[in-house]
Amino acid sequence: MGVSLWRQIQRENFTDWKKLLSELNLNQDETSRIVLERSKFPLNVPKRIVQKMSKGNWKDPILRQFLPTLEEQETSPLFVLDPVADGNSRKAPKLLHKYQGRALLVCTSACAMHCRYCFRQHFDYESQDKLFEEEIDLIAQNPSLSEILLSGGDPLSLSDAQLDHLLKRLDAIAHIKRIRFHTRFPMGIPERIDESFLKVLAESSKQIFFIIHCNHPDEFDEEIFNRLKAIQRLGIPILTQTVLLHKVNDDVDTLKRLFEVLVDHAIIPFYLHQLDRVQGAAHFEVPEEKGKQLMEQLGTQLSGYAIPRYVREIPGVPRKSPIA
Ligand code: SF4
Repeated sequence: MGVSLWRQIQRENFTDWKKLLSELNLNQDETSRIVLERSKFPLNVPKRIVQKMSKGNWKDPILRQFLPTLEEQETSPLFVLDPVADGNSRKAPKLLHKYQGRALLVCTSACAMHCRYCFRQHFDYESQDKLFEEEIDLIAQNPSLSEILLSGGDPLSLSDAQLDHLLKRLDAIAHIKRIRFHTRFPMGIPERIDESFLKVLAESSKQIFFIIHCNHPDEFDEEIFNRLKAIQRLGIPILTQTVLLHKVNDDVDTLKRLFEVLVDHAIIPFYLHQLDRVQGAAHFEVPEEKGKQLMEQLGTQLSGYAIPRYVREIPGVPRKSPIA
């Protein structure tokens, strides 16, 4: 069997900042005062996303999400390696149990792209075993769990065979009723949602939900919506989470455009997250007061179902904490 189309497309990702800057016609003279040339969390951005970045514009809101910059070296005691205290809720190498009734499988360290503000960029991933035996055993032994979140990294980085195995193991656990995919993959490589993947989803007997991570309306195109529609046709609701990011989406027009285009496609804006204070991402933080003002303005301009909950995660608090 040949290599899946999406795997071939993934190989076209930009991982060399010089090639990226050249593609975007960015002035190389300015590089030394902007680009972090060597980063432990390397540049990785799909070609489809690069094609949506404006040429010759260092301030492009999509570029800003992916280009390693010198700002990442600024330190603050408030910005730490594990801002949401994942380590305290680790029940097995790949299982986090933080909230009542739900547990999260850290399926993989791999993503379709590397977002510079990612709160798991320093996570100590278990990289060897993709079979989740220890984690599945713990889930099976805990009848208080009714929902499993597949996160990572990005669960869509797993092969269909791995996902099929995982979903079939979860299928056999009667107290698990719902499975939630948390993914940003469709924004960069929507081709991942192909017939083979849809078949894996369709064969699950559990109610599946998709939460896609998107931050800016210009990340979308019709191909992405078409692929997401194929998931919706399986009776799988799609919701979103968005991180409020300085100079990316912290203005009412951008957020309004994003939430409107989502509901136009029957996708429900679910969470607007205050930035998790991860080391290296301080330059993305938007003050909560500004976030509240944005929510206030959106409240007068959008239908209720188009307005997400503005929340933050506070380590040790067993729920997302509402801000506005
Ligand atoms: S896709 Fe998600 S997990 Fe991966 S780097 Fe981006 S925010 Fe982090």
